Order: sequence, then structure tokens, then C-alpha cells
Amino acid sequence: MEGSSSSSPAPGLKSAFSSEYDRSQLPDLLKFYYSWIFPYQKYYEWLCYDEDSFSHREFSFTLEDDVYVRYQSFDSCSALKEGIRKNCPFKIDIGAIFNHKPRIHKSIQPGNFRAESKELVFDIDMTDYDDIRTCCSDANICHNCWTFVKIAIKIIDRALSEDFGFSHRLWVYSGRRGVHCWVCDPQARKLSQSARTAIAEYLTLVKGNDQQVKKVSLKQPIHPSINNALGIIDEYIETLVMEQDYLSSEERCNKLVRCLPRRYSEQLQEDWKARNETSWTRWQRMESVLNRDTDDRTCKEVKLQYSYPRLDVNVTKGLNHLLKSPLCVHPKTGRVCVPINLKEIDDFDPFAVPTVSQLCHEFETRTDGKKDYHCTSLAPYMTTFVHFVTSLQSSSSAQRRKSGATSMDF
Ligand SMILES: [Zn+2]
Repeated sequence: MEGSSSSSPAPGLKSAFSSEYDRSQLPDLLKFYYSWIFPYQKYYEWLCYDEDSFSHREFSFTLEDDVYVRYQSFDSCSALKEGIRKNCPFKIDIGAIFNHKPRIHKSIQPGNFRAESKELVFDIDMTDYDDIRTCCSDANICHNCWTFVKIAIKIIDRALSEDFGFSHRLWVYSGRRGVHCWVCDPQARKLSQSARTAIAEYLTLVKGNDQQVKKVSLKQPIHPSINNALGIIDEYIETLVMEQDYLSSEERCNKLVRCLPRRYSEQLQEDWKARNETSWTRWQRMESVLNRDTDDRTCKEVKLQYSYPRLDVNVTKGLNHLLKSPLCVHPKTGRVCVPINLKEIDDFDPFAVPTVSQLCHEFETRTDGKKDYHCTSLAPYMTTFVHFVTSLQSSSSAQRRKSGATSMDF
């Protein structure tokens, strides 16, 4: 039972916590969050794919003062709860499912302890967009940055669903400047490192380092997946070009023409200079010039270079790579890593995601009889999570019935 070790704090109108996030309060806030709000049961159900999948799973805790504790594992939901409440981790990472319980790995002969499966995961981080962001850089993000994230989610999610046939995709806001995707289908969890690498490469189009000017090169005929991505980009391109104001200054115009064939650059620069127009009008002028060519690759390459998702491929490739857990708290912003409802992706606002302070404050000042996260603004995000877990559970029990029926055929 939630909070069985001590009685739940009585509802009241006064709170010890301010709803504004104050990092110095983090240890107390986390203690409260892990005691009363964290949705252990649903979290546990998510990771219980089959008999050993939970107890053989690695959790890694980052404690206060950056103490890093790897290879934690738990046999049950109550053991997980006890472990989290006792350690009060500033950050929780999820690792692979091993052939032995990770916490006893030291007693296993070297070479006999290995990662066997894990969700296929993706990490999109705004810092990888610094070559095309004009609004912010480094760890900062704003609403304009978020347009890149929406495009990335739609493109990657479509490919995972339609090109690979994965049904169980959980998208989560990282709490600061990006998003993660957890693909939980059994076929995805069993993928080898080389298969994960192949998928990551399939989804990577923008290549080259900071020195390279032109980073997208398409081959004819253009792959259907890329054409689908371009269809998604077209929904956002006007917004993106205006928000980033890609053609507002000579410097920005020069940057863009550098990735075009030289024969276009002079004419375009003259055209742009001659008229004092918005970035979007200039962009359209460029498109019509480029599309006069019979081969429309150049125009598509520019669009892709300025909007196509940048993935942190190392996170996807490694079976043993740790990734920040959904529903933990980002220590810098205090925001919870909440699931994202893809049906409402255009309305998702990272700055409206509740902070741990807000949740603790809401819990303490609750006036209804609701329990745990239900009386906080985490509830709508949890609806997305519960829906995801339920669909995962019903497809795995259907799978079990199917394989049970097959084995009865003998
Ligand atoms: Zn920004």
C-alpha cells in the first residue's frame, strides 16, 4: 500500500513547500515526492514484461553530491519503493535486463554477467541543434526550440510505427532540454547492438561535424521514409523559418547559401538583398529558384538540414546504455520527466510541466480525498502513462494466450 510505513500527511491548506522550485530544498522535496506522490505501482507494472524482467533490471541512482550507484535491482514493487525512499536519488537511470540480478553481479564469474535485453531507446537533446538554432544555445531552451522537438517526435515516431511496426512507444520529456522515446515491443527489447545501430543509422540523415557546411546529401530515388519526413516538415516549415528567422540578416543568408550549389548563391543573395522581406518570403523565393531545376533534391536537402531530427545515436546503439527514467525529477529545473501524449503533441508545453515543488505543494494543500499523484497536476500526464502500460499489458497477455494455444496444438 502507498505510504504504509507511516500515515499520510493530513490534507490542509498550508504547505511547508513553496510552489516555486528552489533547488536548495531538493532533498526534502524528493523525500516527500518519493513518499507520497511517485506512482510506484504503475511504474512497476510497466517494467514487468515477464517473470524475471523486473528483478533482473539494472537501476542506477545518482545521490546527492553526485555519488553514482550502479547495479541496483529489486525483487518487487515494495522493494523498489523501499530502495528509492531510503536512497532518495537525485536522478534514477534505467539500464538493461541482465541474465542475473544486477545487485549480485560481484558474485558472478566475470564474463557470465551480461545484458540480455532492453527497450530500444532514443534521445533527442536540444544541444545537438546548436548549428541550426538561432534562438538559444547550449542547455537553454525556449518555446521556439520546441518546434524542432515536435518535428523530431513526429518523424521518429512515424518511422518506428510504420517502417518498423513497433506499437508500444513511450515518449517522455526529459525535464530540461529534450525528449526520450522508449520502444517496449518484445521484438524491440530483444534487438542486438548491431540491429540497434542499424536503426539509429537509418534514422540519421544529418551528418558531419561543425566544419562541414552541407550536412544532408540525398540519393535518387529518395527513400519513402525521407519523403514522409518531408511531409511532416512541410507542416512546420513556415513556423520554423519565421521563429528562427533564418534569413533575417546578411550573416544568416550567407550561412544558408553556403550549403547550396554555387550557381544559385549569387542570384539568391541579390534577390534577398534587393527586397526587405521576411525570412519566410525569402525562403519561398529560394524554394521557387531551386525547384526550377528538374531535380528537386537541393531544396529537400536544405529543408532537412534545417529541421530533421538530430539523435544522440550512442544512447540508441548500446544495449547497456543507461537512460534517465521517466517520472524522476530533473535536479536543475525541478521538472518531472513526464510522458507526452502524442495526440496532443502540438499543445505540449515543456514550461507547463509541473515541478516537484508544485506537486508537493499541491499534495499538501489538497482539499479532496484523492491520493498520491491523483491530487496533483501530475495526474493528466499519468493518464497517458496508464494508457500506455494497459495497452502493453493487454498485448503481452494476448501474446501469452496465443503461444499457450499454439503449444496445446500438440
Ligand atoms: Zn530557443
